[in-house]
Amino acid sequence: MLENIRIVLVNTSHPGNIGAVARAMKTMGLEHLVLVNPDYFPHPDATARASGADDVLHRARCVASLEEAVADCALVFGASARLRTISWPQLDARQCGERIAQEPPAVNSALVFGRERIGLTNQELEHCHYLVHIPANPEYASLNIGSAVQVLGYECRMAQLSAPAVAAVDEDYATGDDMDRFYLHLLEVLQQVGFYDPANPRQLSRRLKRMFNRLRPDKMELNILRGILTSVQKKFETSE
Ligand code: SAH
Repeated sequence: MLENIRIVLVNTSHPGNIGAVARAMKTMGLEHLVLVNPDYFPHPDATARASGADDVLHRARCVASLEEAVADCALVFGASARLRTISWPQLDARQCGERIAQEPPAVNSALVFGRERIGLTNQELEHCHYLVHIPANPEYASLNIGSAVQVLGYECRMAQLSAPAVAAVDEDYATGDDMDRFYLHLLEVLQQVGFYDPANPRQLSRRLKRMFNRLRPDKMELNILRGILTSVQKKFETSE
């Protein structure tokens, strides 16, 4: 049922927490765990804390970067204990579950969780369509990562249980990988035409990413944008 949702843990330092996450996932029917550069994995503490959910650990995939973890995802949520200074579209845990339940089954979604000590960086949040916050006690809002996965997993499960059958529309949304290639191309062209100066980037790249994440282009729309960029480049190169 929650087949199209993956849990991504970024740079987890305590292997016991990875086990606690696996257990929380299995109780909620989530199966796909991706670990970005864990400090220790596999590790006996992870297996011990996973209890009967060690099958989730065995199937976990380790990757070197968040980009790689969400490359084939078209909807990415970054879970954050803090409300950020950077403004980014934000949902609470319940809205996050409902949002995923509305997606066509072919869309892969990722819930991304940060480091125990410092959470997710702002650069990592730029890969996310939404920031998700569990509205806990504002004076003590930082849950253990296993508990955070439990709460979000529960909301995803509840939303799926009460969702009406999703219409079989299958919009071919651009994935993280498509978007990364598009941003590279866009910034390259903006630099060529003199609009973007990497020595003085200000907030341009972040603002553009926020805008395109909000738009959520599909693959065909992204191809049009890439085509526009290429024709600007051609024109610019011949006039130079
Ligand atoms: N001190 C860190 C908290 C890390 S807790 C910080 O200030 O960000 C580890 C991870 O659990 C966080 O990165 C986040 O992904 C998740 N988490 C903890 N509390 C949360 C909350 N209230 N809402 C959403 N995610 C939370």
